[in-house]
Amino acid sequence: MGKLNNKVALITGGNSGIGLATAELFAGEGAKVAITGRDENTLKDAANQIGNETLAIKADVLNLDSLDDAFQEVESKMGKIDVLIVNAGIFKGAPLTDFSEALFDEIVDINFKGTFFTVQKALPYLNDGASIVITGSAAAEVGVENASVYSASKAAVRALARNFSADLLSRKIRVNVFSPGHVETPIHGRLGLSPEQVKGLREELASGVPIKRVGTAEEMAKGYLFLASDESSFMLGAEIVVDGGWSQL
Ligand code: NAD
Repeated sequence: MGKLNNKVALITGGNSGIGLATAELFAGEGAKVAITGRDENTLKDAANQIGNETLAIKADVLNLDSLDDAFQEVESKMGKIDVLIVNAGIFKGAPLTDFSEALFDEIVDINFKGTFFTVQKALPYLNDGASIVITGSAAAEVGVENASVYSASKAAVRALARNFSADLLSRKIRVNVFSPGHVETPIHGRLGLSPEQVKGLREELASGVPIKRVGTAEEMAKGYLFLASDESSFMLGAEIVVDGGWSQL
């Protein structure tokens, strides 16, 4: 018996990194998995990797209609959703003095506004008693150079989880936050750096972590499984931080 047997789980940004590892773990635990993402090719590859007849749907959190369409498709093909992992997000930064309005808007629109509307649009398609897990970041707990807007966007979703939990009490829908520290995923390769520079960045990040390494996406997936499953039935509006002690020691 898997921990998510026959549950319908939708993971946004499930075609890469932490979302993909989480989708694989959930499928192994018996869930019927749907993933969304922006890129059609990686969505197909990810669905093949996850197996178990994973449903892959192109949806951009910047396009609210595409979210509606995605939820409708999941309901019509799999049934109402029991687990929603709101994970799509970007990491970008710039020196404070040069931070453009366009970059500010991009980060806030995807990480904060995108999270709000993903949850709002999902509501008609969720089962009562569903579990929603939002991806935060340990960066919201510390001061990181050049990352003020990213960190603030993740602090904002931490607040959303508390308030959504209050909003959704009557439907017994639990909303919690999973906050990773530095994790080795394609996110660092999206910063426009060379592979050598990405390697250097990861080494630099690891040196600031008390246990001197970055985490793996698989280590993160286990936390999402706990929050998604009934094992966390007494948790709502809460946060789990998994960061090798980065924000804690
Ligand atoms: P990733 O780049 O591998 O995955 C991000 C996913 O989000 C991708 O699937 C991408 O398609 C999707 N996405 C981005 N913008 C989107 C949009 N507009 N519409 C739809 N999908 C969109 O990176 P990851 O490290 O797996 O990141 C997953 C989450 O974890 C993000 O929210 C990120 O902020 C958070 N996080 C990552 C780290 C880390 O060190 N990797 C640390 C803390 C938090």
